[in-house]
Amino acid sequence: MKKQRIAILGSTGSIGTQALEIVRQHPEKFDVVALTANSNCSQLIEQVLEFNPSYAIICDERKYEDLRTASPGSVQVLSGKDKIDEIVVLDEIDIVLNSLVGFAGFKPTFNALSSGKRVALANKESLVVGGKLITSLAQNSSAELIPVDSEHSAMLQCIVGENKERIEKIVITASGGPFRDFSHDQMKSITVEQALKHPNWDMGTKITIDSSTMMNKGLEIIEAHWLFGLPVSQIEPVIHPQSIIHSIVTYVDGSSKAQLGLPDMKVPIIYALTYPDRLYLETPRMDWTTEQTLTFQPVDYSKFPCVKLAMETIDNVELAPAILNAANEVAVQRFLNKEIGYIDIPKIVEKSLETLTDNTEITFNNLIEVDKETREFASRIN
Ligand code: MG
Repeated sequence: MKKQRIAILGSTGSIGTQALEIVRQHPEKFDVVALTANSNCSQLIEQVLEFNPSYAIICDERKYEDLRTASPGSVQVLSGKDKIDEIVVLDEIDIVLNSLVGFAGFKPTFNALSSGKRVALANKESLVVGGKLITSLAQNSSAELIPVDSEHSAMLQCIVGENKERIEKIVITASGGPFRDFSHDQMKSITVEQALKHPNWDMGTKITIDSSTMMNKGLEIIEAHWLFGLPVSQIEPVIHPQSIIHSIVTYVDGSSKAQLGLPDMKVPIIYALTYPDRLYLETPRMDWTTEQTLTFQPVDYSKFPCVKLAMETIDNVELAPAILNAANEVAVQRFLNKEIGYIDIPKIVEKSLETLTDNTEITFNNLIEVDKETREFASRIN
């Protein structure tokens, strides 16, 4: 494998720092060409000094001077979100690892694929909102879209070497989050602090809340639909509280393949960087000789309405997933700000979908427009 030149978007986040751990383990395989952070300037400076990239971008323009002063002269220091959209197309980059949060990740994914890069995609919102646009780009050029999400990486690992036409269904596993066994009544009084504690995965704030409402699973079903070209009716969510089986693919002959491992995002990250090859990863292994039980249970859609809301957007209209996503981003932020209650999150999403959904076709500009319109609507309603 020739040395891969990587841009890491969101390098100070959970995925970004784990990707850098992988680079640290294999300096002979990877070169870090660009690092970007939203506002965590001190951590970005440490990373710049350690990995010596050609480009460092801080989105928060107020911190530009701090970053520039601390960086060696060989590093081109930039600020502003737009700069991320611009650098991902550079010839000196082979792989763009996109671990930005939310809709902000869409344009970099779009641009990187347009310029024929491999995108290791940890920003599921890119595919959720613009799946149709993005997958057509990935088909038309040398571009590759490789999922970093643990479930989708599992699906890909189960599908490699198979004829996709023979897939009967994909079973997408979900931990069920911290409120799996809560009653409807208990759901009403969930606090921010409770929602931020995920039983198995240590992740960023937005995705932790999304996991607890199971909107994350809804978004991932849409993501799987676009990645593997299967209708939503053939993608089935199942609760698997141990998070050991990351997903299952069942074929037409009744045989199922699953991918298993400890919950560890470094595994899907390194797979997306090396696919279809693999590379040694220094990380804990499962001990299969220890007695343990893996369990499954159905999803209770009445307790987790976000899953159904998400699934329905696909049969609906082209911009519906973008409305779902924008309304959810706003609702999650409002919950974190303690402006609304936990069970208001799905209500705001549902109201936004009911009010704003029409038959507009999906284009780049329409997406930007509907995203803006939805955010305004979702921040006003109660
Ligand atoms: Mg996931």
